[in-house]
Amino acid sequence: MLNYPIRDGAEFVVFDMEWNQPIYGKEYDFDVSTLTGEIIEIGAVKYVYENGMLVKKGMFSKDIKPVMYTKLHYHVKKVTQKTNSDLRKGIPFAKAYKEFMSFVGDSAILVGWGNSDPAMLKQNLRFFDMDDDLNSYFLDLQPVFSLFGGENGKQRSVEFAVDYYGIDKNIGFHSATADAVYTGKIFEKIFEHNKTAQVLSAVSSSAIDPDIVSEYTFVGSAVKDQAMAFEGTHAFWKTCPICKAKLKEKIKKFRIRKSEYALLFCPQHGEFFARSRVKKNREGDYYASSVLRLATQNDYYLVACKKEEFDKFGVKGAPKETPENSEES
Ligand SMILES: [Zn+2]
Repeated sequence: MLNYPIRDGAEFVVFDMEWNQPIYGKEYDFDVSTLTGEIIEIGAVKYVYENGMLVKKGMFSKDIKPVMYTKLHYHVKKVTQKTNSDLRKGIPFAKAYKEFMSFVGDSAILVGWGNSDPAMLKQNLRFFDMDDDLNSYFLDLQPVFSLFGGENGKQRSVEFAVDYYGIDKNIGFHSATADAVYTGKIFEKIFEHNKTAQVLSAVSSSAIDPDIVSEYTFVGSAVKDQAMAFEGTHAFWKTCPICKAKLKEKIKKFRIRKSEYALLFCPQHGEFFARSRVKKNREGDYYASSVLRLATQNDYYLVACKKEEFDKFGVKGAPKETPENSEES
């Protein structure tokens, strides 16, 4: 959740990255789990918000020369259409990142499609011993599109959203720069096609601070019955895991089958999605595993759907056969 209102002059930087992957079976002299992808391209478009619209202000595009995974993984090669000689033409990551940060500036909100780019950026920064604080909010546009495109709860591709709004597909897909351009156009269309106040509200509530841990888990101890197992997690839902403030219940906790849900609220950190699932261990005792995470659009949708189901069918939930509740998400 943004802790300030979006006003005229607010800047957004829509960005996308491509990364190369380690080759399976190849031996590396470092732990590949600390670098699951090495960034080879950053593309971005800057927008200024003015009077209910997004005005394009600038472009950024840099190819980066990888130093750990120097040969293109066949999958990355296929998707990005890059070649090994393209990789060698790139600039060092540290230089590209520095230029990207000066392009972003002090107050822009970063925007991407899906939430993997900020995580990958932070992982690369840590791997190369750089400060991994992005010091910007991040907005995942994918669930915001789903919300306004009537696709709520579904994870759609950039290309799906491009087709949805009839955006010209004249620059190809799957280069970071092209995908950033398309994502920017989708963002423009979301503003054009919807009420400004509603878009601003979705943007504000969906933006997260990528520098703070957004998901917290807790596993209760094993007990004799399910109700006790749920109860064991309730203390975990009482206080904000980030600042320890008392959490308010925006949607009171309710149970459907083996899961309990709630929407909780911290005055400083906004809404948390809360869910506990009760499981059985080998001894036949019950325990609950619980998650609290800063709520995203998908989480609002999920908790609202489950609440509706609960209001209609109670603790037992909707009859089992319907495909909707078979995923039990
Ligand atoms: Zn808090």
